Amino acid sequence: MSMLQHTQQQYDRTAALLEGTFPPEIFAKIREPHERIEMTLSPLLSDGRVRLVRAFMVHHNEALGPCKGGIRMTADVTIEDVQALAMEMTWKCALIGVPFGGGKSGIAVAPEKLSAHDKEVLIRSFARNASRHIHPLLYVPAPDMGTTERDMGHIKDTITYSQGQAATHGCYVTGKPVLLGGVPGRREATGRGVVQVIEAALEAEGRALPGATAVVQGFGNVGAVTAQMLAAAGARVIAVSDIYGALTNPRGLDIGALAAHVAATGRVTGFAGGGPLAPEDLLTLPCDVLVPAAAAGQITAGNAAAVRARLVAEGANGPTTPEADDILHARGITVLPDILCNAGGVFVSYLEYTQETQKEQMTEADVLRRLAQRMRDRFAQVRAVAAERNVPLRQAAMMLSVRTVAEAVMARGLLS
Ligand code: NAD
Repeated sequence: MSMLQHTQQQYDRTAALLEGTFPPEIFAKIREPHERIEMTLSPLLSDGRVRLVRAFMVHHNEALGPCKGGIRMTADVTIEDVQALAMEMTWKCALIGVPFGGGKSGIAVAPEKLSAHDKEVLIRSFARNASRHIHPLLYVPAPDMGTTERDMGHIKDTITYSQGQAATHGCYVTGKPVLLGGVPGRREATGRGVVQVIEAALEAEGRALPGATAVVQGFGNVGAVTAQMLAAAGARVIAVSDIYGALTNPRGLDIGALAAHVAATGRVTGFAGGGPLAPEDLLTLPCDVLVPAAAAGQITAGNAAAVRARLVAEGANGPTTPEADDILHARGITVLPDILCNAGGVFVSYLEYTQETQKEQMTEADVLRRLAQRMRDRFAQVRAVAAERNVPLRQAAMMLSVRTVAEAVMARGLLS
């Protein structure tokens, strides 16, 4: 089953639970994307050759506001994946309470095979080709898998350059360097939010992070920050992985030293402070907290019965398939769903958007305070609905989101 089919299946389950609360055509409408855009980029790379690259953008639903969602750069990204991720963004923005709809972009290239120069050329080519679809009142991108703060700086520069201005009216892209209008703490916001939701979930069960064991899949923006914050909060991170391999240290990995190793070598493997681990064994290690923070579809019907974590915190988007979700639930393993758990990034993107619109200057302390408060508030809200309706946290989160989006569609009225 594809990522899009998983996302739609999750939505269909929610729509069934909410049956009768809105007319069926509202549920049908918000299942479909508003716009699907396909582009062919033709950047001139440093070897002197033009390379044709497929790029995609989906604006899923704009009832609550302009579409918000990152740019994924991976070799195998498809328009269907981008549609699934845009749909997830619709639910995430509604749940975390920011005035945005869901959107997403994809560029079908392996970033690890590009030099820094060629990546800049490619990202600028994307910004030019997509410029009519990127606007503070239409769609505002951000980093996602394979793209970074630096890329967002290049997007801002390409847009201001084409407008013949030093700055833009309003915010065209979030997750950019602080010097260019970014907010302090955006880069760490997703991982920080993941850890705040984990802390709140453990507290709700009378447990705490100090002394707990954790396993993190993926050591990029989300995974590395999550691992660092878990360790800083007193947890023992006993295993991590990236696309190249996995490593473990039952006494706890030194995450600061590992991050320095990754900065120097580009991969977690080869780190002297841990031993090798088969990547397929990572997700089934016994631990208190398992954080899939890499790709979609990692916990499946094939391995869910072997997961030995007490809590699964979805740092990545869509890491658990619906069948796996059922298996984990039946086994009493709590899953903190992606639309809640990794929503810290989009919440802080919203702070960046308002800062740039109002020409304000937010401090890191402001950002951290507002992020912590919002993540904890929304966790409490989702937990209360889960208890009231006797459903898993994912279903409760989805019910809150879908209801909010459906209400917004109804409030606007049905013209189109
Ligand atoms: P990234 O490109 O910075 O890092 C991805 C990491 O995952 C890398 O370490 C890579 O080597 C590893 N990886 C990829 N496939 C893997 C696999 N099969 N097994 C093990 N490791 C693998 O990306 P990111 O921004 O950290 O995003 C990771 C996930 O989090 C994605 O699902 C993304 O959509 C989601 N997410 C990101 C943000 C954000 O702010 N960056 C916000 C919300 C959700």
